[in-house]
Amino acid sequence: MNDVASEDQGSGLTPIKASGYRVKLIARGEVAQRTVALYFARPAGFSFKAGQFIDLTLLDPLETDSEGNTRAFTLAGAPSEEHLMVVTRLRDTAFKRELKEMPLETVVNIEGPFGNLTLPDAAVRPMVFLAGGIGITPFRSMLVQAAMEHLPHRLVLFYSNRHPEDAPFLHELQDLQRKISSYTLVATMTQMEESDGSWTGETGYLEHAMLTRHLQGIESPLYYIVGPPAMVKDLRAMLKNAGVRQADIRTEEFVGY
Ligand SMILES: Cc1cc2nc3c(=O)[nH]c(=O)nc-3n(C[C@H](O)[C@H](O)[C@H](O)COP(=O)(O)OP(=O)(O)OC[C@H]3O[C@@H](n4cnc5c(N)ncnc54)[C@H](O)[C@@H]3O)c2cc1C
Repeated sequence: MNDVASEDQGSGLTPIKASGYRVKLIARGEVAQRTVALYFARPAGFSFKAGQFIDLTLLDPLETDSEGNTRAFTLAGAPSEEHLMVVTRLRDTAFKRELKEMPLETVVNIEGPFGNLTLPDAAVRPMVFLAGGIGITPFRSMLVQAAMEHLPHRLVLFYSNRHPEDAPFLHELQDLQRKISSYTLVATMTQMEESDGSWTGETGYLEHAMLTRHLQGIESPLYYIVGPPAMVKDLRAMLKNAGVRQADIRTEEFVGY
């Protein structure tokens, strides 16, 4: 990684950790209700695996709060995509207000990539992904990469949201089924009564009966669970009760939701 901290000595900027990359915000857009994608120019030499995350630090925010100026964000773009993309829910915190308002060209610091919630190199076992809301980000990265590289992994994504308007990348994730023959999407909506749209797919929370219905013929999968801590805890317990070995369950918790 580049050592950039020395550039800041005496500049009056908020202190940052000792290493990382300075990256410029080049675009921002809504990808679902209250959910934005931010695109950063990719620094030379920065590579990552689909599913990894970065620590993003605001360098000179207009406001800050007790949680500070750094948050972890999955790189929701695939490694083969041009820019670095992070996607987040816009909660009413100083950090999120800054992400929403900061002008294009604003420079932030990123560190990473970190994490090993990635696709195994060998496609030996089927993979079952369980995502709640914004927990879709690592799976979006993996699936786009799987499509680009024609990866042979058997992939089943269960994706839970309140309603379709709230579900980032829903259409893209549906379309990817045409590009990846070994991939199936099972999207479920938990609060369709709040939606103006229609939905013919699954409804209700992810639970054992729903998984069983859609996992006929899927032998001995690895499970990845990503979402808010309460959801991750519940789904892990559900799998454990269903007899899944702890070693076959990997999780990532998105705190703050
Ligand atoms: C590996 C990883 C990947 C992530 N990827 C994404 C992503 O792709 N998109 C996304 O939107 N979010 C992601 N997150 C979550 C993200 O880092 C923020 O925590 C989240 O967006 C909430 O930020 P906030 O500013 O809205 O709330 P905050 O101001 O950060 O906090 C909200 C609440 O969470 C509590 N909290 C904050 N940090 C912690 C902590 N470490 N442990 C326990 N409680 C805590 C606070 O005390 C507060 O009560 C990821 C987190 C991790 C660990």
